[in-house]
Amino acid sequence: MSPFPSPRLAWRDLLRRGIACTCALALALGAVLQPATAQNTLPALGDSDSADFSVGAERKIGDEIMREIRVDPDYLDDPLLLEYVQSVWEPLVVAGRRLGNITADIDERFSWQTFLVRDASVNAFALPGGFVGVHLGLIAITATRDELASVLGHELSHVSQRHIARSISGNARRSLVGLAALIIGLIAASRSNSPDAINAVVAGTQAATLQSQLNFSREVERESDRIGFQIMVAAGYAPGGMASMFEKMDVSTRLNDYGGFPYLRTHPLTVERIGEARSRAGLNPAAARAGVLEHTVAQARARVLMDPRVDALRRWQGRDADMDGPGADKLLNAVESAQASSLLREWPRADAAFAQALTIARASPNSGARAERAVSLMQAQSLLDRGAPSRAAEAMRAHAGDGSRPVMLLSAQIALAENPAVTADSVVLKARAGELQTWVALHADDALAWGALGQIWARLGLPLRSLRAEAESRHALGDLLGAIDRLRAAQRFARGGGPVDFIDASVVDSRLRDIQAQRRQIELDRSTGR
Ligand SMILES: [Zn+2]
Repeated sequence: MSPFPSPRLAWRDLLRRGIACTCALALALGAVLQPATAQNTLPALGDSDSADFSVGAERKIGDEIMREIRVDPDYLDDPLLLEYVQSVWEPLVVAGRRLGNITADIDERFSWQTFLVRDASVNAFALPGGFVGVHLGLIAITATRDELASVLGHELSHVSQRHIARSISGNARRSLVGLAALIIGLIAASRSNSPDAINAVVAGTQAATLQSQLNFSREVERESDRIGFQIMVAAGYAPGGMASMFEKMDVSTRLNDYGGFPYLRTHPLTVERIGEARSRAGLNPAAARAGVLEHTVAQARARVLMDPRVDALRRWQGRDADMDGPGADKLLNAVESAQASSLLREWPRADAAFAQALTIARASPNSGARAERAVSLMQAQSLLDRGAPSRAAEAMRAHAGDGSRPVMLLSAQIALAENPAVTADSVVLKARAGELQTWVALHADDALAWGALGQIWARLGLPLRSLRAEAESRHALGDLLGAIDRLRAAQRFARGGGPVDFIDASVVDSRLRDIQAQRRQIELDRSTGR
């Protein structure tokens, strides 16, 4: 987790840049992929057309896209924020299953994973195969879990209703790989500031009349609003969350001039869409504002992480002028200031704000426990970053061993910092390695966990295992060449003569064969366009 990644948009850019659409991608896809002759209605589910585009093929496209996304510098694996977003997302998936929107075949074959994008714009997007991207800007603007859940429920519906597959079928005799490239282009275009970029993608695909495509998109969006709402309510979220989210986006949209950006200008984020959401909720949108404080901590963290430039950090840091007293607003200010001061490496000011945040969370009668945990983990990270691993361990002691990913990864980093020299017999390092090994056995695609395991194995004097773990970390990030490189290095090491565990060496050989075969298959797919 690099505290100072590539510079991106400032918070103030948010309003300038706009929040017209949580689904720029779905909208653009509809525009690009619908044939000129299409009816302006969605094919019904179960149409033979959509059956052409199999669940397996859709997942394959999704995997191809994710391989590109995971190596993007703005792909952000922040364990704490990701855990939070997944905790909002997972009840929606469960509800989608229960309601029958998620059928057995897609349940099994799709990934149902969210991921984070370091981008200050307010957006979320569903990709083929059940991957849902969430911009930090979206978390930053939502005041409650319910608002966030309303957007995620909408995105989940794009997945469960197979909107992408349905927009492709009937039209596309496009190769899967070509489609993956097109979608990657659309993501890039939808994230750029230039309206021309997305227009270029559209023009380049010879899409026909814009209006029919936009109508198609409207149908898709309306269906996702309706089904997403049912899912979020079934999952137990406050119904008013959807209307209040739409109102928020609408206010921001009005502050903007979309100029030459027809997709956003004509996106149906209108009085009508808000009205439908509100009448579905049947109550005042203000009801949704009673959120839990854990959301507030996530919101604060997202705001600070989405723009690492110093002037932005200074603004968040200054929030500590108004953090005394109880309540979500004060907590928001305290956490923003603490996180910003940590990134600026101004430790006393960070500590004061962390202490205040903990006081507020602890004073909260019902919803403070999860918020307190989140603040404690952020404080532990801050202490670790300044080279105080023992204090970091102390800060998170109440949560050590809770079995969660953020705690496991943080504990591993603390153990590494506390044991800086190579040692074959550190009990703590062995314990952390054991936890991580159990974890990656179940989550083989966890690049950070493999990376930490590689560091710990190196520290324990197990270079062969360490290289293998590094290879798995690269593989999980989609960097197959990097993985092959490290496995070859491990083979050279094994042949070099030193004491080598036979089983470890066999694992290296077989993983090298697997990953080389995967790479050949991907190249074959790309060259034959399947
Ligand atoms: Zn949408």
